[in-house]
Amino acid sequence: MNTSSKIRASIIKKALVKTYGRKNVSVIKGRGTASSWVEARVKVSNPLCGCNENVIGRCETCKNVFIEHRHEIEKIANEALRANGAEHSTFYADDGYNTEMNEFLAEVKIN
Ligand SMILES: [Zn+2]
Repeated sequence: MNTSSKIRASIIKKALVKTYGRKNVSVIKGRGTASSWVEARVKVSNPLCGCNENVIGRCETCKNVFIEHRHEIEKIANEALRANGAEHSTFYADDGYNTEMNEFLAEVKIN
């Protein structure tokens, strides 16, 4: 299945907006050598842990929020593609095992 990254990005964006809201979601196709990739960036609210630095990985609570949302974003993206008869493009990681990886980046930004 060879759905262009532009179309994959639009499918994934539509699905993520339903969960996270239009103003919190940005999904774009990669550029240049990453043009087959899809890059999703999602803003989520602060877990009220008391952190005040605006960076990811501030404390254990933030880290868990980050990981949970990243899994959720990946799940939503996978389901949306499947529902549209598409799938992620993949590459083989240079990890000694040729592990097949999705060309999909899910970034979580904690507000
Ligand atoms: Zn925190």
